[in-house]
Amino acid sequence: MTTAVYPGTFDPITNGHSDIVRRAASLFPRVLVAVADNVRKHPLFPLAQRVALANEVLADIEGVTVIGFNTLLMDFVHQHKALVIVRGLRALSDFEYEFQMAGMNRRLDASIETIFLTASERDSYLSASLVKEIAGLGGDVTPFVHPAVKAALAAALR
Ligand code: ADP
Repeated sequence: MTTAVYPGTFDPITNGHSDIVRRAASLFPRVLVAVADNVRKHPLFPLAQRVALANEVLADIEGVTVIGFNTLLMDFVHQHKALVIVRGLRALSDFEYEFQMAGMNRRLDASIETIFLTASERDSYLSASLVKEIAGLGGDVTPFVHPAVKAALAAALR
């Protein structure tokens, strides 16, 4: 029963994130979506709301649990007896940061593997920050996020 952790800021959760969760859930019996508090990134949505939105969006995927955290990722992984960290890769530009993170995490605990799922073509240009920018400028984010997220964006940016 390998548990995988998919960590991120999820500010807010997009269809690209959900696609990774769905695919991770087909590989692992248990997937923990770990929503990082990440205050230094100045998220638009407070942690509790990012967790609530992810819960709503991912409700139909079996084996998935959403949990907020504000500790070292490796401590979260140990606490939940997970063995794998899942991350999504969009373009080459994601690679350097992800490679560095995976390397540092391996130095912290070499028994935990980071695996990467490449973004589906449809989602490879999709990022939470672009979604916020589009919504902030009055654009339509329907193709990129769940209706609950669209409504939350409209309320937050009003
Ligand atoms: P972080 O602040 O940790 O980068 P994000 O919420 O931005 O958190 O992203 C979490 C993970 O999801 C990262 O591995 C990121 O590359 C991946 N990701 C983000 N958007 C997409 C997408 N459209 N398709 C696939 N993976 C994505």
